[in-house]
Amino acid sequence: MSCDIKCPYCNKFLNDNDYWENEPQEIYEKECPHCYKIMMVSYEMNPTFITHDAPCKNGGKHDWVPMTGAPVEYFAGRTICTWCDEVKVEKEVNDNAMNDYRSKLKSANKGA
Ligand SMILES: [Zn+2]
Ligand SMILES: [Zn+2]
Repeated sequence: MSCDIKCPYCNKFLNDNDYWENEPQEIYEKECPHCYKIMMVSYEMNPTFITHDAPCKNGGKHDWVPMTGAPVEYFAGRTICTWCDEVKVEKEVNDNAMNDYRSKLKSANKGA
């Protein structure tokens, strides 16, 4: 992010590397290193948009990859498209895994 500030008195630019110590839109004082006058400064947070292509949204195929995480049973049968983040669940595979997981939890609790 560029943080070039133009002095309203001498119109020279100064670089304020500490601007982030202030909240966006909060007005703070800054002394011009050129003309030594005090100005009031505030800045705005500009959102950054990140885009990438998604062939599956344009008539192409989804690029399914298996999801991973914990517990593994929760992610069994789950795949996610690397392009559009759509999630597909193979219900039967996932249901079976989740049933296993629940019975595992139950038998673990029995000992307590
Ligand atoms: Zn100045
Ligand atoms: Zn997709």
